[in-house]
Amino acid sequence: MQQLIDGVHRFQTEQFGRYRRLFRRLSKEGQNPHTLFITCCDSRVLAELITQSQPGDLFVLKNIGNIVPPAHVTGSTNSTAAAIEFAVQTLQVNDIVVCGHSQCGAIVALMDGLPNPDAAPHLRDWLALAHPVRELIKTNYNHLRDTEARLDAAAEENVLFSLENLHTYPAVAAGLAAGSLHLHGWFFKIATAELFAYDPANKQFAPLRKPDPASNEASESQP
Ligand code: ZN
Repeated sequence: MQQLIDGVHRFQTEQFGRYRRLFRRLSKEGQNPHTLFITCCDSRVLAELITQSQPGDLFVLKNIGNIVPPAHVTGSTNSTAAAIEFAVQTLQVNDIVVCGHSQCGAIVALMDGLPNPDAAPHLRDWLALAHPVRELIKTNYNHLRDTEARLDAAAEENVLFSLENLHTYPAVAAGLAAGSLHLHGWFFKIATAELFAYDPANKQFAPLRKPDPASNEASESQP
């Protein structure tokens, strides 16, 4: 706790100065983030750090394994669905990024099961939402013998699964149909801090490149 409190003081005395005007403006004008960034609770994945974003830029949703359930499966008290509706309908973000990552504990638990699932019923039921990903890996990725490669493949397929489920939200579907909203699937490699983006044309994740100003097709994911 001391580390957190020290950090707060250090931010206020050493860093806040250069953010003062920005925070004052954001306080006055409200937030207008351009992107809903959905990623994992993992402490090593810091959305703002790896995208060098500023306060007001990203509306960040962190949950276990960056899973987006289909719109109706978890009932009306679904915080992930609530965040999606708020970002898309109220804040009218232009983009949604679903960012999975390597060495994801949720993906390990999804593939191998929890050691004692009945002791963590909420976690068990949450991960069960992504069981289609587990089945897909078992069926289509038998050629991958290396554990890390299989887990990375599962994390990537889980991103595509979540992108697909985003289409089941009426507000998302409307934004996609109108061309005002774009979906992106990313994968973050922790050891090297590399980012990979899903390329729907080649149906694979490739190193994230600067967008071609002539076309933004390559960054759009329509799984
Ligand atoms: Zn994770």
